[in-house]
Parts: sequence; C-alpha cells; structure tokens
Amino acid sequence: MSAPAAIRTTALTKVYGDTRALDGVDLTVPEGSIFGFLGPNGAGKTTMLRLITGLAQPTSGTAEVLGRDVTQAGNLVRAEVGFLPDVPGFYDWMTAEDFLRFAGSLFGLRGTLLDQRVAMLLDLAGLTGVTSRVGGFSRGMKQRLGVAQALVNAPRLLLLDEPTSALDPMGRKDLLEMIASLRGRTTVFFSTHILGDVERVCDAVAILDHGRVVAQAPIAELTAAYGERKVVVEVTDGADELAALLAARPWAASVVRGPNGSIEVTVTDAVAAQHDIPAIVAGQGIGLARLEAGEMGLEEVFVELVGGERR
Ligand code: ATP
Repeated sequence: MSAPAAIRTTALTKVYGDTRALDGVDLTVPEGSIFGFLGPNGAGKTTMLRLITGLAQPTSGTAEVLGRDVTQAGNLVRAEVGFLPDVPGFYDWMTAEDFLRFAGSLFGLRGTLLDQRVAMLLDLAGLTGVTSRVGGFSRGMKQRLGVAQALVNAPRLLLLDEPTSALDPMGRKDLLEMIASLRGRTTVFFSTHILGDVERVCDAVAILDHGRVVAQAPIAELTAAYGERKVVVEVTDGADELAALLAARPWAASVVRGPNGSIEVTVTDAVAAQHDIPAIVAGQGIGLARLEAGEMGLEEVFVELVGGERR
C-alpha cells in the first residue's frame, strides 16, 4: 500500500451564512512535499487551515490528515501536526529560548530531549545566542520563532497560515530559507497570496479561488500545462524573412523582431516550436546563432487561472 497523503480532502465544503468559503475542495498533499496553497485574499485559505487543524467543522465533505479523519481523531492528529496561525501570539517578556522551552514543556518534553530540541530549533531559526526579549524582536525574528515553536513537537506535518505576508523582502527571504531547510524532514503546507514565495520554495501548489481549487500540480507541470512560453531565435542573416515564416506556424502566438538578428516568438507549444525552428532555419540556408526557450512563471499561470479579478 502506498504511504498516506499528508492531507487529503474530499468535497470539503464550509458555508458561513450565504458565503461558501470552501466549495467542494478535493486536495491531495503528498507526504514529504513543500506545498503552497495559493489564493487571493478571501479565497478561503484560512478556512481551509481551520478545517484541517480541526479548529472548525466542515459543513460537508471530509478532511484526512496523515491518514486519519480530523473530525474523528482530532487530538491524535494534532499531536503530529505543527501549526502557525496567521496572527501568532507571543509572550513578549520571554526570550526565544524561554518561549521554546515553555512550548516544549506543554508537549511533555523534559531534560536532555527538551535541551536538544530547543538548541536545534534556535539554530534553525537563526536565533542562537539572541538573549533579548521577544517584545523587541523584528517581525522576521518573530515569524522565525513562530515556525520554530510550531516544530517543537517534531511534527510530521507543519501548517503555516500566510507566514510571510507581514514581512519585508529580507524577512521573507530568511523565512523562506528556513522553510526550505525543512525539505525532507517534514511535510510543509503553507498558505500565501504571494506568488514569489511559492515559486521559490514549493514543490507543488494548489491554486484556490472563490473557495474552489482551480489547479493543483507540481509547479513545473502547471507552468508547462498552462503557459505560453517565449522562444528567442537568433540568426546570422535573413531574420525578417524567417520572422514571417515563423508567424505562419500554428504554434506561434506572436512574433516580434528584436535587435540584430534576433526574433522573440511567443509559442503555445514549446516542444513543437523547438523541433520545427531549426528545420525552418536550415531550409532557409541561414545560420542559427541562438535558440532559447524561456520558462513561463507561476504569475502568468495564476493570472490565467484566476483572472485579473480580486476581491
Ligand atoms: P485572507 O487572505 O484575506 O485571510 P482567506 O483566503 O484566508 O483570505 P478566508 O478567511 O478563509 O479567506 O475567508 C473566505 C471567505 O469566508 C470570505 O468571504 C470570508 O469573509 C468568509 N468567512 C471566513 N470566516 C468567516 C466567519 N467566521 N463567518 C463568516 N464568514 C466568514
């Protein structure tokens, strides 16, 4: 039997009054992945995390975490899950070490095990040797401490609700590096409305819009499936004639002449384009100086799937 998914939801639905915050969500998060849950404000991300952690009950549908139904086995599930809410609370008078010791003791850790866990987490968060009180920490330091605290019970699954949204670029970079360093150690599921976060650290992503998952796949697959790509061709001469020939191909969405002998082609089928272009160039009896296929970013995929619309 294959290993259970870290998270599996089936037709998961949550209705608040007239609002369908989640509307039939089928989501599978593979164990071991760093999974981005991407959606604009109001898409239903926080609602999803509340249902997965058992903090709220679904209107209908099911949520399984680490192979167990959260509504049936909430406490068992929570013992194996770490969670950082969107607005975490801290005790400002404590140091980072005090705070992690306190959090660890709530999970029953004592003695050497607690010492080792706290030392490892301070190191992971880049807070070793920081003796000032949490009240004086930057937002970035607080978030890193928050993630460390969510890891204190060595969870198999770490859930983070918009962990980077209040951070400046440096703070985001540090926190994302911390998340990336967990790869292979624990499954990470984090919500965000920031595309760059997902592109930087996630293996796979689900895109949520108006309570529905509009796409979920490994990132590379999503960009390949939905995107047009840019291909740059550079030839030694005859670029104008070549541009006209390329524009007539079925995979060419647009063709723009660049400087010198370069031509930028937006293609709908990159594989076909890369196969055809050298043959067309050879048929013209001209020299091919460069052929490059650019990657389409997640941003274009996101806009294509969710549209320009924002709530
Ligand atoms: P944000 O990024 O703004 O936090 P989100 O993607 O986390 O957004 P949710 O907070 O899950 O979105 O909200 C989804 C929808 O459900 C919104 O329309 C919101 O107003 C509504 N909603 C969420 N919680 C409640 C509640 N307790 N009562 C009523 N409506 C709610």
